[in-house]
Amino acid sequence: MSDTAHGATISIQNGKLHVPDNPIIPFIEGDGTGPDIWRASVRVFDAAVAKAYGGRRAIAWKEVLAGQQAYDKVKNWLPDETVEAFRHYLVGIKGPLTTPVGGGVRSLNVALRQILDLYVCLRPVRWFKGVPSPVKTPEKVDMVIFRENTEDIYAGIEWEAGSEGARKVLAFLKQEFPKAYASVRFPETTAVGLKPVSREGTERLVRSALAYALANKRKNLTIVHKGNIMKYTEGGFRAWAYALAEREFADQTYTWERWGRTKAANGEDAANAEQKKALASGKLLVKDAIADITLQQVLTRPDEFDVIATLNLNGDYLSDALAAQVGGIGIAPGGNINYLTGHAVFEATHGTAPKYANLDKVNPGSVVLSGEMMLRYMGWTEAADLIVNGVEGAIGSRMVTYDFARLMDGATEVSTTKFGDAIIAHMS
Ligand code: NAP
Repeated sequence: MSDTAHGATISIQNGKLHVPDNPIIPFIEGDGTGPDIWRASVRVFDAAVAKAYGGRRAIAWKEVLAGQQAYDKVKNWLPDETVEAFRHYLVGIKGPLTTPVGGGVRSLNVALRQILDLYVCLRPVRWFKGVPSPVKTPEKVDMVIFRENTEDIYAGIEWEAGSEGARKVLAFLKQEFPKAYASVRFPETTAVGLKPVSREGTERLVRSALAYALANKRKNLTIVHKGNIMKYTEGGFRAWAYALAEREFADQTYTWERWGRTKAANGEDAANAEQKKALASGKLLVKDAIADITLQQVLTRPDEFDVIATLNLNGDYLSDALAAQVGGIGIAPGGNINYLTGHAVFEATHGTAPKYANLDKVNPGSVVLSGEMMLRYMGWTEAADLIVNGVEGAIGSRMVTYDFARLMDGATEVSTTKFGDAIIAHMS
């Protein structure tokens, strides 16, 4: 693919992203409400970049197809040119896509993550003042989740109950591991799945999370796992994560194997005591927590969690549970990143909400804030900050889309377009 007269390609050298002043960025509008949301969002991005850099920088947008739109036009849910564009231009953004039901077509989101080996699913979770929330102190939630995106039970290695594949895997188990086979209660009707978790996969995820936590001066990183039950997969993740922190980040981290300990010697809550010690030594606290307890404690003690590193399934549950805490289901942003190759796809975390398609009604916040993440990833921090200010200001002015308006006192319901206008008007 050659660069056009209007833009140049983002590249990566020695692990550092090189972003020209006029980068070509592929985008997928998305299905259902996607076009409504994209129209408002792209105006917000362009306004933020123009205001931050006074015309010196501008994004050259390049539309690519995927999902229902692609199927209708070229009879392919994920055309090769689209994958190739994301591969070539490194950084891109997408709206929500219809997941075709049945017919053996895989989720397009999962396909893109796997093809480009986007091993981090990055989900920042923070509260914007004024957003209706189901919890009492949403302002205490300020977390960034690094979810491993390529391994675990989500790798898609599974066989349907009664299929030839399931029968073969079970026969192998019976032959080679009779004790394990004895734990399969109903072999005739059992579906089987594999949960691959590797040291390399864990290390690249945790390395990225630690680098992020240190660069952004966060106070702790929690390794969330179910190693108490799944000793070698989830337990391996925990052990490899600690070992990596101690090996590669020894002088910047303070590791504390929390598991099972609740009180310090002086009776103080152990987590608080260790956090104080880490802060006093100017280091990042690295601790761990079991996934089920984490789901309780992000509710009861949200200020104890900062950056979280976890496996795929745990991360999926945790990201959505946390987004709900800050009222952010309609505005939660996300990014899928390979920090080694530079490939990154930022995306809406909600679906296509087809019943609202073409009504100019839904909240564009998820794509807007995904774009904010993208600009920050590109190093265009000033433009990203303007978007955050704009969103804070728009919500503060109570000019919001229907989803917030129905839960906020004294709010004025506005369209997707008008909410975008309000964000632009509040950039300062
Ligand atoms: P959905 O599209 O997320 O919609 C569920 C509900 O969430 C909506 O009815 C609406 O709630 C609320 N909502 C979603 N987006 C909103 C927005 N921008 N602003 C305000 N409210 C919003 O979930 P779904 O109906 O289960 O899935 C529809 C399609 O999307 C499916 O094909 C699914 O596979 C796909 N999907 C795609 C992605 C993705 O591309 N990342 C993710 C999830 C699902 P109210 O009805 O209460 O107003």
